[in-house]
Amino acid sequence: MTDKTLHIVGGGMAGSEAAWQAANLGINVVLHEMRPKVETFAHQTGNFGEMVCSNSFRSDDDEQNAVGLLHWEMRAAGGLVMASADANKLPAGGALAVDREAFAEHITAKINAHPLISVEFGEVSELPTDGTWLFATGPLTSPALGAAIAAETGTDRLAFFDAIAPIVYADSVNMDIAWLQSRYDKGETEEEQKAYLNCPMTKDQYEAFIDALAAADKTEFHEGETAGYFDGCLPIEVMAERGRETLRFGPMKPVGLTNANDPENKPYAVVQLRRDNKLGTLYNIVGFQTKMKYGAQTEVFKMIPGLEDASFARLGGIHRNTFLNSPTLLDDQMRLKSRPNIRFAGQVTGVEGYVESAAMGLLAGRMAAAELLGRDLPPPPFTTAMGALINHITGGAEAKTFQPMNVNFGLFPPLDGMRGGRKGRKERYKGYTDRAKDDYNQWLDGQI
Ligand SMILES: Cc1cc2nc3c(=O)[nH]c(=O)nc-3n(C[C@H](O)[C@H](O)[C@H](O)COP(=O)(O)OP(=O)(O)OC[C@H]3O[C@@H](n4cnc5c(N)ncnc54)[C@H](O)[C@@H]3O)c2cc1C
Repeated sequence: MTDKTLHIVGGGMAGSEAAWQAANLGINVVLHEMRPKVETFAHQTGNFGEMVCSNSFRSDDDEQNAVGLLHWEMRAAGGLVMASADANKLPAGGALAVDREAFAEHITAKINAHPLISVEFGEVSELPTDGTWLFATGPLTSPALGAAIAAETGTDRLAFFDAIAPIVYADSVNMDIAWLQSRYDKGETEEEQKAYLNCPMTKDQYEAFIDALAAADKTEFHEGETAGYFDGCLPIEVMAERGRETLRFGPMKPVGLTNANDPENKPYAVVQLRRDNKLGTLYNIVGFQTKMKYGAQTEVFKMIPGLEDASFARLGGIHRNTFLNSPTLLDDQMRLKSRPNIRFAGQVTGVEGYVESAAMGLLAGRMAAAELLGRDLPPPPFTTAMGALINHITGGAEAKTFQPMNVNFGLFPPLDGMRGGRKGRKERYKGYTDRAKDDYNQWLDGQI
């Protein structure tokens, strides 16, 4: 008889949700968790589903917000993380904030009480060759397991830090100021020659920008987080501190570019934005990883000509974060292409945040269970929040520049006939969420 057990490694947001989903489909689950035997620098307890920092699941608005829509989709699928959050919620306006201890205790009690889930405490430090496994070991995957994963994937496909540049919605850039051009018009096709969005700066604008970078509020690294990372991904404000001209000779160099809106005037500096997804709806600001606080980032980046009214799909950051180059390594079932008995889920797959991690756990748990039951479970359509996320990490994102991603409407296929830009936003977001709910319900119904 084939072994129908699913082994899940990591009892965080993703692993707990995956265990719950698979066990509710009748699968025997063994959940392996290294805490409290082996600790991480951020976790404080031995509980499942521990929130390592903020106690917020962000917006709960399922009509106008992509995270709120993800909440809705997880609730519709009987998600443990959402049920535990709802049972332990605190007043927080439109956001879903929870009592973190009660939340994790709730998850722990549910996992321990489930007749089909057993728990084994201890570190897993190899990728097993037999059995069905799901790794949800998170941003702080233990070093020994990280080494085993890197040996399988190649060290260039597993990152230990993220260096996230801010991502802007393409339709919020002012194209009367910005223009499309690759440096020195490089590329064979017109698309390649116009692959970047460029924002020009005069000398005065550049000087004011450097001053603003120096004055902005910054966040500190957590203790134990920094171990030898800095090479090649310095925050822009640190580059600017090294000399006022450093950025102008680095990511903001104005060479090889002619301002299509004002060809006679040579910009003093140029901020470049590179396409971030195949849909062309998102652009990242090249080389602008930063430790500035979120509020400061929005203020400083809106000083860039062309981005005065920009909407950000995500802001920048640098963190300790173990994650795979999923677009090259995982198939659309979140299986490792080179070792299909192994799945990954959660933040280690290159999504970012408690909610996104739990959502990927929910999907991976259901997919693994379906496989063990001899059923086929396609991913949800990419018009849904879960589908948009899995599509992004397993194929939609640019593999070369892949960095962890939050759920956002820039990942959704555009709606025909809807107005772009800020003005039509409310109607457009409602259009996205209505379409998502219909498509998600159909996907769920198809599993019965
Ligand atoms: C310092 C820090 C602060 C963060 N702050 C926020 C925030 O405020 N808001 C937010 O939305 N997201 C935040 N994140 C991201 C957050 O970690 C993830 O969003 C979420 O917890 C990831 O869920 P996960 O299940 O993938 O990983 P985790 O929740 O971290 O779960 C992974 C589990 O795997 C276990 N594990 C690791 N290696 C092994 C092994 N070899 N064998 C057995 N078990 C193992 C770990 O002990 C852990 O329990 C933060 C991350 C860090 C590191």
